[in-house]
Amino acid sequence: MFDADSLCAETDPDVWFPERGGSANPAKAMCRRCENEDACLEWALTNGEEIGVWGGKSAPERRKLLADRQLSKSRKQADINHGTEGGYRAHQRRGEVIADADPCGCRGAYQLAAAQRRERRAA
Ligand code: SF4
Ligand SMILES: [Zn+2]
Repeated sequence: MFDADSLCAETDPDVWFPERGGSANPAKAMCRRCENEDACLEWALTNGEEIGVWGGKSAPERRKLLADRQLSKSRKQADINHGTEGGYRAHQRRGEVIADADPCGCRGAYQLAAAQRRERRAA
């Protein structure tokens, strides 16, 4: 259902919208041969398409995919302990640059810890 070059544009559209209890497999098989499969799936996810097969995925599969993505996104955000030196290192591992204003306090915590280490070494 993506654009005019796609396989589904040349085939009976009902295949992509199986009746309740009907099989999504014929549509999925076509999607697998479609060169727009990935783009089509992303389009459907971004636009919240709730019915039919898009990019080789049925509606329940797309819901699962969105939920999984949401979860891994929130896990990623959650695992930084901001305002600590460990948080600063976590930002570094992710390649994130902390803005000059140090909005989450991680850089300040790191600088403080580094200064304390220097003092201990000097003592
Ligand atoms: S991936 Fe499937 S639904 Fe999407 S354009 Fe191709 S054939 Fe159509
Ligand atoms: Zn931080």
